[in-house]
Amino acid sequence: MLDEEGREINYLRISVTDLCNLRCRYCIPEEGILKKCHSDILSVEEIEQIVKVSSKLGVKKVRLTGGEPLVRKGIVELVKKISNIQGINEVALTTNGTLLKKYAKSLKEAGLKRVNISIDTLQEKKYEYITKGGKLQDVLDGIKAAKESGLSPLKFNVVLIKGFNDDEIENFVNLTLENEVDIRFIELMPIGENGDWAQRHFIPNTIVLDKNPDLIPVASKDKSAPAKHYKLPGAKGRVGLINPISSHFCSSCNRIRLTADGKVKPCLHSNEEIDIRSTLRQGGNVLPILTKAIKVKPKQHHMNEEDYTPIAREMVQIGG
Ligand code: SAM
Repeated sequence: MLDEEGREINYLRISVTDLCNLRCRYCIPEEGILKKCHSDILSVEEIEQIVKVSSKLGVKKVRLTGGEPLVRKGIVELVKKISNIQGINEVALTTNGTLLKKYAKSLKEAGLKRVNISIDTLQEKKYEYITKGGKLQDVLDGIKAAKESGLSPLKFNVVLIKGFNDDEIENFVNLTLENEVDIRFIELMPIGENGDWAQRHFIPNTIVLDKNPDLIPVASKDKSAPAKHYKLPGAKGRVGLINPISSHFCSSCNRIRLTADGKVKPCLHSNEEIDIRSTLRQGGNVLPILTKAIKVKPKQHHMNEEDYTPIAREMVQIGG
């Protein structure tokens, strides 16, 4: 379906839980987040129903995220159900990778096409620091399992954080020389209570090009992909730059979001949320709600304006 700006909305990102087994400093506030009642969270069947209706509006791709989607009970069953919905061509998942060793094979068998794995550093101690206790080895084991299960091509999300991982940019870029992977650098966005922290630790992605002058721009097949792609000469993999702040991509945004507690978000960076859970639970028709969410999708976000106030909901409750 086209929104008011003429953008074709065909991508639904679903946060399946706001729980996470890591505590990334930029994603989860210091004091944590209030745990929701089980009954506030959409069930597997409710999510399936919303995806079915979305597919009638032209949604073709679904990404499961969180929180950490792999801590959600029934995640494999959910992937299977969504993969079987007519009109859904691709089910993908964004994960911190720590539980992939356990789930990669069954997710692939259930119909999952691809995974994006978040990994902000290649150093054990720094990984433990930024995630407040995570073990890098768990992610590395997860990556191996994902490769062996055929969840490819693998994409890695690296959030650039000033003074934390800007000294590892070349190491990440060099991984693309021998590996058929995408390393995607993401600009740190001010969201929720950590908004100030994010503003202080922001570095524009142009630093990746400054540090790697050999990178050559390559055309992306998917025009609505948020990443601009580059390659090192002779490299097997690609480098992606996702620049929501220094060069936003709102004019080609093709997505809406569904939170774990049943709100549709037309834009990640707007406080506007439309409740879909109560209509669903009262047996009502959710098609008009999804239609409205697409209609009211803002033209663009305002993150790069001086007086911008970060949205209230935390990233862990929306699903990056
Ligand atoms: N737990 C999963 C993971 O770690 O990938 C999925 C949820 S996480 C919120 C999704 C993505 O959002 C991750 O790549 C994470 O690094 C990114 N992210 C979280 N907070 C962010 C922020 N403030 N700015 C940019 N990216 C952020």
